[in-house]
Amino acid sequence: MPELTSGSAGTAAAEFRFHGRLHDFLAPGLRDAPIRRAVAPRQTVKDAIEALGVPHPEVERVTANGRPVGFGYRLRDGDEIAVYPAGPVPERPGPTGHGDAPRFVVDGHLGRLAAYLRALGFDTWYRIHAPDQELAQRAAADDRLLLTRDRGLLKRSIVRQGYCVRSDRPAEQLAEVVRRFRLVESARPFGRCLRCNGLLERIDAALVVDRLPPRVQHEQREFRHCPDCDGLYWKGSHYERMLRLLEASGAGLASRQQTSADRR
Ligand SMILES: [Zn+2]
Repeated sequence: MPELTSGSAGTAAAEFRFHGRLHDFLAPGLRDAPIRRAVAPRQTVKDAIEALGVPHPEVERVTANGRPVGFGYRLRDGDEIAVYPAGPVPERPGPTGHGDAPRFVVDGHLGRLAAYLRALGFDTWYRIHAPDQELAQRAAADDRLLLTRDRGLLKRSIVRQGYCVRSDRPAEQLAEVVRRFRLVESARPFGRCLRCNGLLERIDAALVVDRLPPRVQHEQREFRHCPDCDGLYWKGSHYERMLRLLEASGAGLASRQQTSADRR
């Protein structure tokens, strides 16, 4: 990626304006005014945007002098570039009315988030020591959304869809992802194995009674089994906590929508 320097007389330069949540990625001194940068010959708008710190999967739309352009657009002297964030994705109701649930690749440092997503039934690829190259390739090959806090990873060209997780707290990370991808409707709590991502199946209590702690035998009636790793699940305290997190994230979404509706 070419190094950008401040524009000066005789150098081709362009002006960049970033909107909304994309300010999260800019250095503090760059957030309030248009940013002027020299542009190298044949430099793409993707290069320039990422050199300023913004990974391209976070960007939904770019305009050059008011006209929409793709990431491969070659910058020209005097260009005015506006960069808009990817917003919450619209619900896509499918034949079942539940929409197509998104699938994820989750970076190794976000293990709790990966487990939460699986607990909510989302197909989530996760390996604790997966190298960046494998994460990017897996996301591209399977058409999965890549979740990471590593901006450099999101800048890789083969990553088409992804999200840079802002918080370092797992519950807040989940709330961010639920809001960003509107997951409340498509969540299926108790749907997947936290350990291996297998689809859980109902299993009769009588078949697993010898594997249950005595308290669970008395208190729980519904059990699910992972056919892939033989894991056994019931609706214990983790499940209740999961539902509260989902509810809180969904309530956050609803109140944000209300607030934006009020402003109109
Ligand atoms: Zn499993």
